[in-house]
Amino acid sequence: MILLCPHCQKKNRVLLQRFEDAPACGQCGRPLLQGRPVALDEQNFADVLAASRRPVVVDFWAAWCGPCRIFAPVFEQAAACHPELLFAKVDTDANPAIAAQYAIRSVPTLAVFRDGRLAQRISGALPPAQFEQWLAQATAH
Ligand SMILES: [Zn+2]
Repeated sequence: MILLCPHCQKKNRVLLQRFEDAPACGQCGRPLLQGRPVALDEQNFADVLAASRRPVVVDFWAAWCGPCRIFAPVFEQAAACHPELLFAKVDTDANPAIAAQYAIRSVPTLAVFRDGRLAQRISGALPPAQFEQWLAQATAH
């Protein structure tokens, strides 16, 4: 699958079987799937959900959405703090098929996927403390 480096935006090809080996960017050497949210699209979304053994936390957002911009740094911060989770962002305007598949009617919508399936979702930009609380309960075993 092709993943965009969340640090330098370079396209990287990641083999499905190497997905959990902490793949690093071929250009900047930083981890592709750790520390910052990775941008997913209609080409790689299903593959990433299927390949990840970590729960995948997705921020469904749109460029025109004010609350999405306010929430973005909260999501970035959480991605830096939780290596046990995979953080991803989906631009709902650029990827309408994903938004339709999961019936995303408002942005931001936050969702947790486990084993490729939607486990939890919540709509609206959460303040940091509430987002942490929701994450803890949504990703608890
Ligand atoms: Zn890079």
